[in-house]
Amino acid sequence: MIRKSTVNLKYANAGKLQKVHTTAIEYQRVVNLFIDSLWKQKQFSGKFVKNTAVESWLSARLRQAAAKQALAIVKSQRKKKRKTKPKFNKLVMELDSRFVTVTQDLDDSTFDVWVHLASIGNRIILNLPSRKHTHINKLTGDEWLLKGSTRLRITDKGCFIDLFFQKKPPAIRTQGKPKAIDIGYKKLIVSSDGEFLGDNKIYEKIAGKKQGSKAFKRALAERDNLVNASCNLLDLSDTKALYAEDLKNVKHKSKGKIRKSFNNKLARWVYPKVLSKLALTCEEQGILFKKVPPQYTSQRCSSCEAICKSNRRGEIYKCACGNIMDADLNASLNILHLGAYSPQVSYSKQVI
Ligand SMILES: [Zn+2]
Repeated sequence: MIRKSTVNLKYANAGKLQKVHTTAIEYQRVVNLFIDSLWKQKQFSGKFVKNTAVESWLSARLRQAAAKQALAIVKSQRKKKRKTKPKFNKLVMELDSRFVTVTQDLDDSTFDVWVHLASIGNRIILNLPSRKHTHINKLTGDEWLLKGSTRLRITDKGCFIDLFFQKKPPAIRTQGKPKAIDIGYKKLIVSSDGEFLGDNKIYEKIAGKKQGSKAFKRALAERDNLVNASCNLLDLSDTKALYAEDLKNVKHKSKGKIRKSFNNKLARWVYPKVLSKLALTCEEQGILFKKVPPQYTSQRCSSCEAICKSNRRGEIYKCACGNIMDADLNASLNILHLGAYSPQVSYSKQVI
């Protein structure tokens, strides 16, 4: 399994950052030159990189990296069957360990990570300071190995290096119970074990802010943290398999006081975020993670299996059989049933 960690280069002085910027701009120009000469070709061979000469002050190695990146861009454009020549307008350099090395300085409490850039050209060698954050701390621990490939990115937010760490995933657990979750709007996660995690206060907070404002962005960041925190609270210690509904059902779940289109947008964003966060957690802990197709999970009674739309009234599910429970809990029990106990069965709708 592979995890990414991003190092912010904002601590480097302006002169160094200027050199990084100049290099990225020249790199972008070279990638576009390679795209120009590649675009005419129908077939691509490995010889291209060696045989195409491009005038640039970039080192031969870095030009080679640019050619590889151009080749990937052109191939992807051809695959999409697009007729227009692609243009590379990002400041992104796909690099490897010949250009980028990272060292940790345990004695320096201010800058404990140093990124070294070399073999760029024009005799540029840069040592850029940064700070280690909790995420990278976790990844530099036992068994995680820094992969050779890195990505240098310059965006309107600054200059960053993405580092990739690799580790062999643990074996899938054979002990434990299956568990399912329902991802909702009023409550973020409701598990089949009756865990209720996260609420929708953050959406109302976001809705109250002007879109694009600083306060709005702060609220979005708060939402991201809430998603992560809620996922981390889910007790997976005795779980061998985790089931969640596939994404398609999301639009039915966003009922609330906020303007509908806006709250739909928020819910649509949160749903895949929760799924991908939990997928990563499961991979790290050896838990089988499976998405099940949505099938009347909010309408079906988890007790007597009757399917009745009107049984769901807001947050309560109430069935003629006497089953009364939280509607999201009822849904998560149905997801558990679908995922763990009868994955082959598909419900036929019996209207009551
Ligand atoms: Zn029932």
